[in-house]
Amino acid sequence: MIKEFTLEYKPIKGKTYSLFGKSNSTEEYYQLIRSIAELVLENYPDKKNLIEFIKKKNNFTFFEQLINHSKSYSARSSSENGLSQFLSTYTTGVKKHFKELGLFKLWDKTLSTSEKQYHLYMLKIELVNQLNKKQFNGCEYKIALLPHCLRDLTRDCMKKMGEYDYICKGCSKNCYLNFTSTMLRKYNVDPYIWMTADITNLFKKLKMKHKSFGVFGMACIPELFSGMIRCLKKDIPVIGLPLDANRCIRWMGEFHENSINTKQLELLLNW
Ligand code: SF4
Repeated sequence: MIKEFTLEYKPIKGKTYSLFGKSNSTEEYYQLIRSIAELVLENYPDKKNLIEFIKKKNNFTFFEQLINHSKSYSARSSSENGLSQFLSTYTTGVKKHFKELGLFKLWDKTLSTSEKQYHLYMLKIELVNQLNKKQFNGCEYKIALLPHCLRDLTRDCMKKMGEYDYICKGCSKNCYLNFTSTMLRKYNVDPYIWMTADITNLFKKLKMKHKSFGVFGMACIPELFSGMIRCLKKDIPVIGLPLDANRCIRWMGEFHENSINTKQLELLLNW
C-alpha cells in the first residue's frame, strides 16, 4: 500500500457479482481463479491457440473440459462441473437481476450477461493476464483506461483533460482512482480516466506514435472482458483488473462506492 492513502477496504455487494463472495477480502477469489487458470494452462500448453479460444464466444464447455480433464483437478474433486461450482459464490445477484431487468433492457449485452458467462469471463480475464503479462510489460508505451465510478464519491472530482482523456489531479487521499493512478505511474503506465476517448481513434494515434503499446483495463467484469477481447482482436497486449463489484449508475440507478484489490493491482504490474 502507498503510505499516504487512507483507503477503506470493506466487503461490498454488486448488482450481480462481488469478488468478496462470503469473505471479508477478495484474496480468496484471486487465489481460486488463479488455481483454475493454472489447470487450464497445464492442460493446454499451446498459448497462441489458447488465445484464439479465449476470443471465441460461449465456449464454456471447452474450458470446462480442460479443467475437468486436468490431473490436478481430478485429484482434488470428482465433480464434473468445476467452473460454476466454484465461482457461483461470487455471482449470487445474477438471478434476481434478471427478474428485475425490463424486457427492453434484455438487448443490452452487458446488462444481460448470464451467470455462466460471468464465470467464463472471470476465467478468461485471468488467463489473458497470465498469457499477456510479459508482452504488456515489454511494450514501449503503456496506457491504462480507468472507470470514473472508482473515484471518491464524497466530493467533487477535480480531474482535468489530458492528452487522450481525463487525468486524476489527486485531490483526495481516500480515492481509489488516485491510488490506482499513483501506482500505475510508479510502473510507467500512463493512467487515464476513460470518459470521452474513442477507442478506435485512440488506438490509431498510439500506433502512429509508438513502436509498441499495451493497454491496462479496469472495469466491471462484462465491460472489462469486452474491452480485453477488443484489444486481443487487434493483437494489442492487454491485461486487466476487475472492479470488486458492479455498483455504478448503469447497474444500480445511482453511483455507489467501489473498490479494487490494490495488492492484486501491484502484482499485475510487477510481473
Ligand atoms: S483524487 Fe482524482 S479521481 Fe479522485 S476525486 Fe480527486 S481528481 Fe477525481
